[in-house]
Amino acid sequence: MIQYTRVERASGTASVTILAVSIEFHIEARSGAARAGRLITPHGDIETPVFMPVGTLASVKGVSQDILEELGVRILLGNTYHLYLRPGVEQVRKLGGLHRFMAWPRAILTDSGGFQVFSLNELRKVTEDGVTFRSHLDGSSHFLSPEAAMQAQIGLGADIIMAFDECTEYPADSARMRASMEMTLRWAERSKKYFEEHKHEVPWNGSRVAAAERTQALFGIVQGGMELQLRKESAERTVGVGFPGYAIGGLSVGEPRSLTREVVESTIEHLPADKPRYLMGVGTPEEIVAYAKLGIDMMDCVLPTRAARHGLLFTSEGKISIKQARYTGDDSPLDPNCGCKVCQRYSRPYLRHLYAANEVLAQVLNTIHNLSFYLDTMRTVRHSILLGKETGSSCVQSEPKP
Ligand SMILES: [Zn+2]
Repeated sequence: MIQYTRVERASGTASVTILAVSIEFHIEARSGAARAGRLITPHGDIETPVFMPVGTLASVKGVSQDILEELGVRILLGNTYHLYLRPGVEQVRKLGGLHRFMAWPRAILTDSGGFQVFSLNELRKVTEDGVTFRSHLDGSSHFLSPEAAMQAQIGLGADIIMAFDECTEYPADSARMRASMEMTLRWAERSKKYFEEHKHEVPWNGSRVAAAERTQALFGIVQGGMELQLRKESAERTVGVGFPGYAIGGLSVGEPRSLTREVVESTIEHLPADKPRYLMGVGTPEEIVAYAKLGIDMMDCVLPTRAARHGLLFTSEGKISIKQARYTGDDSPLDPNCGCKVCQRYSRPYLRHLYAANEVLAQVLNTIHNLSFYLDTMRTVRHSILLGKETGSSCVQSEPKP
């Protein structure tokens, strides 16, 4: 799937029309509903299904960019809301965009800011125009609309950016879910219109005029609360607006996990088979395997990095809470089946000591292991798909009994 679009570009005094290509997505193998694919972005290729670490403030907390590269991270996520407030979009744009600002040459995806803004329950007001909200940092007032969210994301310059949507709260009644879904659709159209008119402003293209150059890709987001019929309608109408990729949003907002899965499974049926599918904000290692099996290509979650900072480690033998005293005398590696440099070098008692002593290194090492575990889990799934095997979750077991 190659998307070419015409871009008007001023060159000297003349205006030239050039062909711009955003992303390409190729499916290399299927196993059941699962797909192994390749997503080609302006900043490199990504093998899918992929887990995307979250780098909220242009930083994946606890690990430097060279380590992320070593871990094989090909794409990470930035949060528009947080970057918009600090350091501000204009500063990042002037410095050449997020890639150059954070010294990350590989792909980046930014969210639209919608999810964070909607999490500010007491600090926001939603109208058809957009959302007025107060900064969680200093209480200052701001306004985000589909147009403003596009302007911010074009200024930040991620490879993949997201339409501005309303994340419907849970629980919500049918009328509320429909109204919210309808507004998200209108916002999707406004997001696309602004994006098409302004995408040539992405900072990494600079003044370069080439015969064909890469531009950002804008993904649409399916909403509709927890009603399957609304999800179907949202998917079909978002596809009608037309995007090079589709996300499933509005999940992991407090609903039972069985319902999350039901909504994902039924929504996928209404998304195009040849476009990337991105499930936002999930999940545990078991869940990312399960969603890849359903045909999801991209996932992100703060869980591995956040849990790491709280001493919760995901291993092939189940979850480990490294703060527990029982690891003091257990002189084995964190995960005997993990090839990461933390498991190769350090013992459980040492990691437990670092955590108990509140050493910064505890956060660093824990994060490296958890990210490594997530990335390896996805690589195993991809490998199984390529081999045509049914993808299992044998690399992830339940928590061992104390
Ligand atoms: Zn490890």
